[in-house]
Amino acid sequence: MRYRRSRKLAAVTSSSEHTMDNRPDQQVMPVDPASYAAVAAAFDPARLTQARRLAGMTKKAVADALGVSPVAVGQWEAGTHPPRPDHVGGLSDSLRVPSAFFAAGRPYARLESSAAHFRSLRKTPAIQRAMAIAFTEQVWELVYALEKRVQLPPIDLPGFSAGEVSKDEMPSTPGAAAQELRRRWSLGTDRIPKLVRTMERHGIVVTLTPFAGPATKNVDAFSTSHLPRPVVVLTPDRADDVYRHRFTAAHELGHLLLHPDAAPGDLQQEREADAFAAELLTPAAVITPLLPARMDLHALDRLSKEWGVAVESLIYRCREVGVISEPAYRRAFQRLNQLRQLNLFGPEPVSGYPGEVPMLLRRAFELAEANGLSPRDLADELKIKLPRCGCCLGRKTQGRSCGWCNRARRVTATSAPARLLPTAVLKSARLRRQACGEPPRISAARGAAEESLGPGHELTSGKLLVIQNG
Ligand SMILES: [Zn+2]
Repeated sequence: MRYRRSRKLAAVTSSSEHTMDNRPDQQVMPVDPASYAAVAAAFDPARLTQARRLAGMTKKAVADALGVSPVAVGQWEAGTHPPRPDHVGGLSDSLRVPSAFFAAGRPYARLESSAAHFRSLRKTPAIQRAMAIAFTEQVWELVYALEKRVQLPPIDLPGFSAGEVSKDEMPSTPGAAAQELRRRWSLGTDRIPKLVRTMERHGIVVTLTPFAGPATKNVDAFSTSHLPRPVVVLTPDRADDVYRHRFTAAHELGHLLLHPDAAPGDLQQEREADAFAAELLTPAAVITPLLPARMDLHALDRLSKEWGVAVESLIYRCREVGVISEPAYRRAFQRLNQLRQLNLFGPEPVSGYPGEVPMLLRRAFELAEANGLSPRDLADELKIKLPRCGCCLGRKTQGRSCGWCNRARRVTATSAPARLLPTAVLKSARLRRQACGEPPRISAARGAAEESLGPGHELTSGKLLVIQNG
């Protein structure tokens, strides 16, 4: 990763561009040609690459949209020739960023694609990986802007310092590293009721991928420790299964701790991150005595709900610790699949668990907003459009498309799917929460409010986020 702090330049965002931001998506409003000329004069080639990647477009697709040759786009990105002012307008329209986005003059962190962990390179095409990387860069810019105004929790990831991880601080085996992290984070040996919130509380930025459609299907969760704050991007829309979501969050946490040199798609690293996640969520020494002596899916289902892990990972655990034989292990999966087809053992949606929905960036913005920062100010500072700014914060801008998530169902703590569930499911969910010692949830929206404000919860504005003086 490299930092760029480009030379300062006179503001190139004209008032006409504010108008442009407010336009309905498909309408083109007139923009002062002088502002295009100013942007062309201050053109930052790396910003074009970033915007193109964010749009998930190839150079050829951009060239076709503008009616120029791919060579010309290549030259603009290489910095050998700047685009003409009229092309700046075309780039702005095609890539759905304000033209000021392309001007030099604001800091950003460049993330190499090799710096992020992707589970499978085969499943994640290069263009989607580039999109995910560029999104993470944009999240970093958002964090940078918010940290000027709001104090985020200090980073407490053993061995992590300013975008680098030293492996000396932690045991190198995944299981021992998970135990050591539990010790350092004072998690004891019991279940971790709110994993995502716990990660945020220790200064890790967790966010959800905003990509819709095919991009959602193809982009797996990913993480990077090569930025000043570790970032984990989760993709709950893929399965909307809170237990998978928690396992993925723990898996990415394992990468952050164990693999400072990401080797995207490396099977050994993936296995280690899985082993870390299993030990973090269900420490072997504690879970082993609780596992049923013979394969009993109902007993595993109870344990699954109690510990917040999938039945599958408990079946793995049973085999790992020798409770069941290899044939019994295979039969258990067959039986589980049959029951799933009968709509039994179905997934629990992520939105029903506010502690597993990222909240840090949204809360940080709300705190800054209460102190005078408007969404428009923030979008202008980042030189992005308002809906996209909202999307990076995990907020939806009413009736507006960010270009990523127009078709996606955003998972937020306030999306309140609970009222759509049958009464029996609601009742069992309520009983389970009570059994787990969590406050009863009257509605998802109320639950979110309770979580952010109620006593005994970690994410309160006074405790976690403090406005810096001055
Ligand atoms: Zn991985």
